[in-house]
Amino acid sequence: MIPYLTAVLLHKCPRCREGNLFTHKWYQLSKVTNMPQECAVCKQKMEVEPGFYYGTGYVSYALTVAFTVSTFVAWWILAGFSIKDNSIFWWIGTNASLLIALQPWFMRTSRAIWLSWFYHKDDERLSKLSIVTNTHK
Ligand SMILES: [Zn+2]
Repeated sequence: MIPYLTAVLLHKCPRCREGNLFTHKWYQLSKVTNMPQECAVCKQKMEVEPGFYYGTGYVSYALTVAFTVSTFVAWWILAGFSIKDNSIFWWIGTNASLLIALQPWFMRTSRAIWLSWFYHKDDERLSKLSIVTNTHK
């Protein structure tokens, strides 16, 4: 079983850390958040309840802020900022471009993190919650 962080970064199921969380490749942009009904390996439900992934907006926000702070510090160390040139605008443009380019990865990683907060490897709470959600149907 691969470590937690590796499973999150590779978008693997939080329970078995083997099954893929997403059905399509990241560059198929219209299907970037498509997930299977359940994990192919351990049958972990992916859409646990309606609106389950709304909270990923907060995770995605934290990820992008952390990324922006990281690029700011890296730019400061490697290139430097000055009021005498346009270096701050070059950083803003570069950072915005990277954020747009990496958006599919941020969206998927946010979902992987969000799901991993609710389900852990071989978690017994899953089956209990599945029973609870099934009784509502
Ligand atoms: Zn699984």
